[in-house]
Amino acid sequence: MQVASQTTLQDSPTADETAFSRQSLLGLNLEEVEEIVTSQGLPRFRARQLWRRVWRHGQTDFGDMTELGKDARDKLSAVCQADRPMITNRQTSKDGTIKWLIRCDDGQEAEMVYIPEDDRGTLCISSQIGCTLTCSFCHTGTQRLVRNLTAAEITGQVLLAMDELGDWPAGKEERRLTNIVLMGMGEPLYNYESVKKALSLIMWGEGLGLSKRRVTLSTSGIVPEIEKCGDELGVNLAISLHAVHDELRNELVPINRKYDLKTLIDCVRRYPVLSNARRVTWEYVMIKGVNDSPEDARRLVKLIKGIPSKINLIPFNKWPGSDYECSSDEAIDAFAKIVMKAGYASPVRKPRGQDILAACGQLKSESVRLRKSQMAALQQAAK
Ligand code: SAH
Ligand code: SF4
Repeated sequence: MQVASQTTLQDSPTADETAFSRQSLLGLNLEEVEEIVTSQGLPRFRARQLWRRVWRHGQTDFGDMTELGKDARDKLSAVCQADRPMITNRQTSKDGTIKWLIRCDDGQEAEMVYIPEDDRGTLCISSQIGCTLTCSFCHTGTQRLVRNLTAAEITGQVLLAMDELGDWPAGKEERRLTNIVLMGMGEPLYNYESVKKALSLIMWGEGLGLSKRRVTLSTSGIVPEIEKCGDELGVNLAISLHAVHDELRNELVPINRKYDLKTLIDCVRRYPVLSNARRVTWEYVMIKGVNDSPEDARRLVKLIKGIPSKINLIPFNKWPGSDYECSSDEAIDAFAKIVMKAGYASPVRKPRGQDILAACGQLKSESVRLRKSQMAALQQAAK
């Protein structure tokens, strides 16, 4: 397998040194932008104009915001900015998947991935650099948490992707980015306040106006925050289940020791927005000889009985250093058949962007990225 294309971009114009001292507008709500505007002695209505330039038109250069007038442009450009994170690497897979490595102001790096499909284009974004949880099958889990991403860094990923995909002005009909999933690096519910603020801006009608039905948050199962997320954001929920017995889940998804299967499933049962039209997704990574028996499949459908659900069987993506293997095609088929017989449709997730290591659990930052030789071995294995 060959990587379709790759570019390394070290001198992105967003690497503006002065950005360090100017406040980012990307994590602020309209009231907060109004405070900045009035603190500069400018009339309040300038805030809404500035807001529209940033959120509806994707403008980053104050010089282009002619509607604001020269005085406002000069004053505002001295104290705030709408810069994106810097792109340090862009890879495009043969199947159209794009992966960007992005660098924050403090040099920390995260990844985001765009996955085009016939009826949608999904952007997978990160919520943390690394992860504090140590799920045994997850590559990101081997990297210790470096820090939470700020709200501006989370929205910045989405705005940057829109720049890259040519999706401005926001809300245009033929846009390429239609859905967002928080399935990149990190546990979004361990960075809840920033995730909440970022998603509110993305979903607000005067922000990007993306419907909450088009946003999915994936969690390993932080029960108290799942409840808050349902009440306060109402986005779609995906649960990283991966095991149907506590003993095994304690090993695969160690947060299970704190919130066990019963507590988690009871909490999902109460998730406010669930209906047949908006079902919870149960993510289940298929690991050979570990969690892939017919007995596991039967217990899975029993556990979630009565909850409007989709089941997503994810072939385990092997990474160097992991002892796990992906289940055989036969085991996946047999598992899927049991699940389908119980009424859940087409449950196997097709791996995407494998040639650029963009698949689930393979997102990882530059400091610990795979060496070329490891990458070659992995690509060989994937043939
Ligand atoms: N922390 C959140 C979101 C990020 S992980 C969570 O755990 O849900 C996104 C998804 O990728 C999760 O379902 C995760 O279990 C899955 N995943 C992680 N490593 C994987 C691997 N090696 N192969 C397949 N799926 C993996
Ligand atoms: Fe963290 Fe999710 Fe990976 Fe677990 S699966 S280590 S929660 S990113």
